[in-house]
Order: sequence, then C-alpha cells, then structure tokens
Amino acid sequence: MSNIGGVGVTPVEENIPPVLLKNYGKWDTHEIPRPGVIKRISETGDVCYTVRLAMPPSRISVATMLELCDLADEYSGGYFRITLRNSFEFIDVIPEKIDELIGKAEAMGFPVGGTKNSLHNIMACPAWIHCNLPATDSPGIAKALGDALIEEFKNHRLPSWLKINIGACANIEEALMADIGIIGVHRDQPIVIEEKMQICERPTVIHSCPTYAIKPKGKHSVTIVAEKCIHCGACTMHCEAILTGDPKLDGYAVAVGGKASNTGSGPDLGRVVIPYLPNNPPRWEEAVNAVVQIMDAWRKDANPDERMREWVNRIGWDRFFKKTGIMVSIKDIDGYIYGSEFARSDLRFGW
Ligand code: SF4
Ligand code: SF4
Repeated sequence: MSNIGGVGVTPVEENIPPVLLKNYGKWDTHEIPRPGVIKRISETGDVCYTVRLAMPPSRISVATMLELCDLADEYSGGYFRITLRNSFEFIDVIPEKIDELIGKAEAMGFPVGGTKNSLHNIMACPAWIHCNLPATDSPGIAKALGDALIEEFKNHRLPSWLKINIGACANIEEALMADIGIIGVHRDQPIVIEEKMQICERPTVIHSCPTYAIKPKGKHSVTIVAEKCIHCGACTMHCEAILTGDPKLDGYAVAVGGKASNTGSGPDLGRVVIPYLPNNPPRWEEAVNAVVQIMDAWRKDANPDERMREWVNRIGWDRFFKKTGIMVSIKDIDGYIYGSEFARSDLRFGW
C-alpha cells in the first residue's frame, strides 16, 4: 500500500523500529529481566528491550499522549506501540536508560508491569463515552480494580497470567474471553413508546432482535414478549421510540475461566459465577471484593503456571464455589454447550 497523494495507509516499514525490520523472522527467544521489561533476542545476536506500561481503559488525553511521545523520542528512538490489551510499550529502549525511563513513566502515573505471572493490563470497553448500550461503567470499574490490584500488576507473584476484561453489556464476547470477566446486565426489558413508533422502521426493529421477542402491534407499533427478551438492548439502537429499561436495576455479572489463547487447554468462554452485582461507583467495592475473592482462592490453590480455567478444570466447578466462598445461584447454570467451540472459532485462533 502506498500513501501517494495522501491516500492509503502509511507504509508499514516506516513505523517499525529498524532492529525489528533487520531481524524479521529471526527472533529466537525472549526473557523478562524484571516485571514490565521484555528482552527479545535474535539469532543474529541483536536484542530489543521493550518496556510495558499500564494504560487507562478506552481514553487518553492528547496532552498525556504527547508526554508519552516525548518519552519515546528520548528513550526508544520515537518508537512505541499500543497492544491489543491497551498497554503502552516503548520498543527498542536503550538498555542503560531503562531504569530512568521507568522512573519517569511511574512519576507520570503509569505503572510498569503486566508481564508473565502478573495481572496484565485490564481491558474495558468505552461504555457510555462512546456507546448507547452500557449497563455499567466499564472504565470506572477498571480504574477501581487497577488501583486495588496495582501490586499484582507490578510483580510476578501470581500462579500464572491473570487477565481481566470488562464489557458494559452482554453484546460483546470479549469479557467472556478472560480469566475474570465483568459483563454489564440490564435487568429491565426495554420500554416501547407506542405513540412515537411511527418514526421507526418496524421491519428493521423486529429483525434487530436476536431472540424474535419483538412482534408487530396494531398498524405501526410493536410489543416485546417478556419471556423471550434477553435485555440485550439491540432494539434500542434501531429505534428512538424504544428506550432501555429502568437504569436503577442495571448492574453487572462476573464470569470466570475465559481464555483467548492457544496455550494449555486452549481458548474458552468464561462461565457466569455471580449473576448480578449492583452498580456502585466510584470505588465499585462489590466488583473489587469479588475479583479479590476469586484471585486469592486461585493463588492459594493453583499449580505453577496454571491459568484460572485450567485450575477450575482440575478441581471442578463445585470446588471452585467452595474454595472461593461464592454462593451458587440457579442463574449460574450455563446451558450454552457450544461455548468452547464458539471460542475456538474466533478469527484470532487457528485451533
Ligand atoms: S461492550 Fe457493549 S456497552 Fe461496551 S462498547 Fe461494546 S456494545 Fe457498547
Ligand atoms: S432487548 Fe434485545 S432481546 Fe429484548 S427485545 Fe430488544 S433486541 Fe430483543
């Protein structure tokens, strides 16, 4: 691809650190000399140091980004990348200056860590900043969890990697693809403002529903069959005359055992273990307590390098509830027998 005339993407080679281009296809191994620092070693003998920072979920100001760019100019030849989990990585850092860079990044409020057996950067959807479907505030929960678990991010003292994903509604599977997932839930079904329904395209609204819960009513309106509605909110995106239900009933569920990697037992979807917790900003104590409860039981009982799902697979779900002290609910029962196959058919995997 070329950007001749300003059209198209920038040639990829222009944005890759020279050491990576030079050693393309030749990287042999890597080491983690300390939390947040990755040393990649090429078969040519070249090395490339990467320093990883936690990033806030979903948003960062231009001023902060410019400060990070200044650090990249000073310490990594201007090169950095933002990872799939939203971590910020300085690439090809001058080895003698790693300590200085870490000091400056931490002084700016960016903890360094998230490698190996630690908490990796918490992923959260933008929720209300960008989207009209959220039932909870994922960036807010991510901030509260990040503050509470900061030492787990900065140290390698967990049995294995711990990934936490937060989605503010049930329409995106990402929250189910992490060791611990938090998923926003609308507990009330949408409200149809019948006198306004003329402004909406009725066939589009009816077909927006994944469970066929929307039926035509009269000449212009629709009705929602309560037994079929899963409160996903999709119909509210297609029609201004359909509003999400009572926000006071909104909250989130907690799922455990999802995985988005080919290691160990392979990719899998998490299972709901707590069907509902109330929205409680700004410190989200219920979410923090639930995550700490699950993490502590796993830390105490897991074998070395055993991810959350592999631990549960070994001990069984019965013992998971006993060891974590989480109450079993009838709503935890997961009837989706194709969960594993679904996870393994994701475009990211060659399972
Ligand atoms: S997970 Fe749901 S609430 Fe969050 S951005 Fe995606 S669709 Fe919107
Ligand atoms: S909230 Fe979802 S399931 Fe319920 S009626 Fe709307 S589209 Fe259908």
